[in-house]
Amino acid sequence: MSLVFCPLPLFQWLPPFCAWYSFRPHSLQLAELSPGQGVLMVLLVFGLIELIQYGVKQYRLRPLVEELRRQQPPYYASLPQPLKRDFEKRVVNFLVRKRFIPRGENFEVTLGMQVRVAACAVQVTFGLAPISLPHFSRILLYPDRYYSAEFKRYHSGEVNMRGCIVLSWKDFQVGYQNASDGFNLGLHEMAHALHLENMISNQEHSFLDRQHLLQWDQLAQQEMKRQQQTPGTFLRPQACQDEHEFFAVCVESFFERPKAFSSHHPDLYQALAQLLQQDPAKGIYQL
Ligand SMILES: [Zn+2]
Repeated sequence: MSLVFCPLPLFQWLPPFCAWYSFRPHSLQLAELSPGQGVLMVLLVFGLIELIQYGVKQYRLRPLVEELRRQQPPYYASLPQPLKRDFEKRVVNFLVRKRFIPRGENFEVTLGMQVRVAACAVQVTFGLAPISLPHFSRILLYPDRYYSAEFKRYHSGEVNMRGCIVLSWKDFQVGYQNASDGFNLGLHEMAHALHLENMISNQEHSFLDRQHLLQWDQLAQQEMKRQQQTPGTFLRPQACQDEHEFFAVCVESFFERPKAFSSHHPDLYQALAQLLQQDPAKGIYQL
């Protein structure tokens, strides 16, 4: 199931309104009204249309919020009440802009699965101004690991520049079964998407603070070099492949074992907290 919501902007009502006005019954001639009354009537009609649109929108989106509240993903469940409302809005905003595509025979992508994936994306971006990662408009879900013809091996997830976030649903779920081991496929792939989206020239370009990003890049390069000479024990070796993998692996530990991250790599942790504008080690969701 794919969610599509297309609100009709106000201006799109103008042609039908004008057409109606041209063929209006005699009793409704606005010419009989004073200019002030005519303007007031038009405003009232438009206001009513907006109100109806808002009501329809709320009615259509309510199941998404209800599903999120029913599922209670761990990050959402830990939020104080006012932040929960913000989180819900962001999940809805993410979902109405994405197309979920099931891959694999007889594999269905349920509303619950969509909500979990959206909640994962919002978790990573929650400290920032609301963003929806518009370049990544399609989310492909496989039931299990899938064969990548491009890389000629089995994958559990990837993010590609063709605008897709690809996930193995089984591995996505495993990532949340142990919430403190520093392995989380969903967080990993959403971190890749966030990192790339910041570089892609579109309406959400450069949303990460430049100074914070510069600081992060410098520390990341230092740490990658250090780990190549003397492998560390906290970040897994995958982190040293390149700066993208380093960022994604760090994001997994940032959320899943923030206190240990902060004590093993305090400078890196602080730089990432500044970059993502949240500090899970201190229970701060928005700096
Ligand atoms: Zn990766």
